[in-house]
Amino acid sequence: MKKVAVVGCGSYMESGYGCPGEWRCLKAAATGEGKFEEPSSVISFVTCECPGRAVIPTLGMAAKLSEMKPDVIHLSSCLATAKPACPYNKPEELAGMIEEKTGIKVILGTHDYH
Ligand code: SF4
Repeated sequence: MKKVAVVGCGSYMESGYGCPGEWRCLKAAATGEGKFEEPSSVISFVTCECPGRAVIPTLGMAAKLSEMKPDVIHLSSCLATAKPACPYNKPEELAGMIEEKTGIKVILGTHDYH
């Protein structure tokens, strides 16, 4: 089974309205729906914190402490398709930076649930 890490928008998650951490990302991963190509095991769920500079070291720390390297990293739908958009980083740019630093493919989004 594919091992995935998910990055959620911490600013949105903390607002408490439909936080991606409650079930949406996890169901999509478990069932292989939305942006997941197949049922996948979420081995880490990392929250971005404004202004987003810590995401890459946080992903690295999660991999180090868990001793599990993800096969793919998903930016959660709340991060990748946020409206209003993240004021600090375009999702495509953030994905590019993560890919460059980690060498791991980054996919924009996780689920299509409402
Ligand atoms: S930097 Fe952007 S994506 Fe990260 S927590 Fe702040 S608003 Fe969300």
